[in-house]
Amino acid sequence: MLAYHLAKAGLDVVLLDKAKFPRGKTCGGGVNVRTQKLIPFDFSPVVEETITGISFTCRFEEPFIRHSPGPLMFTVRREHFDEFLARRAEEAGARFFDQTPFLSLEEKDDFGEVNTAAGLCSAAYVVGADGSQSAVARRTGLMQDPAYMLAVHSEAPTSMVPDWKPDLIHLDWGSVKRSYAYMFPRKYFLSLGAGGIDLPAARIKNYQRAFLATRAQKEGILSVSAAGFMIPLRKKRCPIEKGRCILIGDAAGLADPFSGEGIFSAVRSAQIAASVLQEAVKNRWDSLKPYQESIDREMMPELECSRLFRELFNLRPFHYHRKIASQDRWWNAMAKIMRGEKTFLDVKKKLGPVGSLLARMAR
Ligand SMILES: Cc1cc2nc3c(=O)[nH]c(=O)nc-3n(C[C@H](O)[C@H](O)[C@H](O)COP(=O)(O)OP(=O)(O)OC[C@H]3O[C@@H](n4cnc5c(N)ncnc54)[C@H](O)[C@@H]3O)c2cc1C
Repeated sequence: MLAYHLAKAGLDVVLLDKAKFPRGKTCGGGVNVRTQKLIPFDFSPVVEETITGISFTCRFEEPFIRHSPGPLMFTVRREHFDEFLARRAEEAGARFFDQTPFLSLEEKDDFGEVNTAAGLCSAAYVVGADGSQSAVARRTGLMQDPAYMLAVHSEAPTSMVPDWKPDLIHLDWGSVKRSYAYMFPRKYFLSLGAGGIDLPAARIKNYQRAFLATRAQKEGILSVSAAGFMIPLRKKRCPIEKGRCILIGDAAGLADPFSGEGIFSAVRSAQIAASVLQEAVKNRWDSLKPYQESIDREMMPELECSRLFRELFNLRPFHYHRKIASQDRWWNAMAKIMRGEKTFLDVKKKLGPVGSLLARMAR
């Protein structure tokens, strides 16, 4: 997305990726409407299903379904979605080299020298958009000591889950503290996963297995393999810029601390980076500090607030489960957050002094 925005603005952009495209990425593949609104072109050719409702359980019990009048989310296969974005960036004028890993970065007086597996590349500015295991972050000493969400993920053929619906996602929560499990429908496969904070990997793996057992036919379960992944979460004010280099997306730990969703933050941080970099090129800045200031101002308060709601939710999951089941305003707030019509900050503000008190308690 960043390459797309910068190339559209007429800048000379080189996009490097170590993988051969199209490449898979372990991900539920849920792109909510809030994210769709930020993407300046139609990506419906790679949408697999349109989600208009959520089926909920708490500790695998008390099921209910909530519907929304319009879409909440779209599901995609990341190999198709990411390929689609990379091609839009190329069409806008970016030069894309896949199978070209970033190796190291050396800061020169007025440019950065990037060492890649295919040779050296000099650039006025360098952006690490290289995900949760960012080599750019490692090489520049940025994003040290983040918190992590652990996610376990598997894919099952739709034939294995008898009652899946193409327009519904399923969430289970409250079963394991600070964790939830999801099932997202796609055309031929279902994404089934679980994610959680501060929990041993075995706990999340067992939870994901138990969740799978509640949804899938017994005969198939053993054939479904699961893999674990770490999603980094940036701590407040942790550096994500140094000299002529910045980090965006998962490399900067900007995923949502409640849900672990990171596509929105990747797209939003790319948008913020694009406007800062255009100014930087125009005015020949030798520092990208304004980028981190913008992220701290425009994204971190909402991410911090999401962390607060995660802590509150985990105190009494059954209570909130029942509120969403029985009170329209609770469900509407959740649906509006997914559609980008409301933020966690709006909800906290609405709570007034109670919201501030809760924020202090959650810390
Ligand atoms: C199990 C799981 C489920 C998830 N489900 C969802 C979901 O449903 N919805 C959602 O919004 N988010 C979800 N997320 C989070 C989401 O996948 C990430 O937040 C998002 O992909 C971050 O995008 P990114 O562009 O920053 O990084 P990535 O998508 O990880 O892209 C990084 C790119 O950098 C490349 N790269 C890595 N190292 C190098 C190198 N040295 N040189 C060159 N290139 C390199 C990689 O090949 C890759 O193409 C999930 C995460 C997990 C683990």
